[in-house]
Amino acid sequence: MGWFTFISQKETFFIGGREVIIRYKHEEDLARFKEIIHKACETQKVAAFFPKITFVLKEEKVGETPAYVIPGNTLKRRIIVYLNATHFSQQTIQRQPRELLETIVHELTHLWHDEISKTLQRNAKAQKRLAKLLYTQFKSQPNVKKPFFALRGKLFLLFHDLIAEGIAIYCETQTRGKLPFTEEVWSYLYNDARKRTANIEQDWGQFIILLNSAQPQYLKMDAFEICTRLLNDLKYQVGMHMVHTILYFDHNLQLEDLTQMKPFKFIREYETTMKNKRRQPLISATSGEGILDYKKMLAELTLAVREKKTALAKT
Ligand SMILES: [Zn+2]
Repeated sequence: MGWFTFISQKETFFIGGREVIIRYKHEEDLARFKEIIHKACETQKVAAFFPKITFVLKEEKVGETPAYVIPGNTLKRRIIVYLNATHFSQQTIQRQPRELLETIVHELTHLWHDEISKTLQRNAKAQKRLAKLLYTQFKSQPNVKKPFFALRGKLFLLFHDLIAEGIAIYCETQTRGKLPFTEEVWSYLYNDARKRTANIEQDWGQFIILLNSAQPQYLKMDAFEICTRLLNDLKYQVGMHMVHTILYFDHNLQLEDLTQMKPFKFIREYETTMKNKRRQPLISATSGEGILDYKKMLAELTLAVREKKTALAKT
């Protein structure tokens, strides 16, 4: 029996014939969210894509994600956005009135993207396969297993989610007005993404050195957690810079074209666009030309852990 059982109340309203449902537990939650959900569904282009949308107001712990969607729900024609009622308190909504609207657009964009390309569903499945594989590989080495699992998973997610988060943040930003295609805006987004990427490159390098030198008993240390969190935070602004770069420099492509690309096709498209403009890509798939390169990072991590496994086998 899950939390869903306890959310029994629902309110339904119609916007231009489209159905919007809010599921909630407390009346005060509904009162707080209703107006902005209504506004989002009425004014935002991405909402108009769906004939029926359900918003579920959940009471999560403090610090949990503000909102999420479940890849694969679109397959069952279930368009559901889960919103964290604890995060969006009365004070938060008053202090940052745009956050809830932007979050709704962000999550609806994920669903729209998933509906078009099934990329999110495929990623979720691939992630499960990866977890299974890692579980088998590290069955006998619990010391390595847990932190490596998390880190390997995050590395996978970083590169696979750049497209989804990039598109979602791009659409979210458009709620504040059209994002100009100018050198000034491009430089701003690029510099921000560059700083973040360079920080990760440095931290990652140090982390790999640490991983190579540390004794197996130290593997559960905070470094894993810090590194995992950094990788997680990177995909948003870097993804946004990648989407903006492709659309700004390559006028033959539109946002809809990007939604149909597989994650690594998107990264390669970005690399090509940057190189055509004689700029160094921040991210690369396998060419090694980006500040962060998936193939290179994966090889470094695999090598370090393989040696750790050997060291463990000897102890
Ligand atoms: Zn997202």
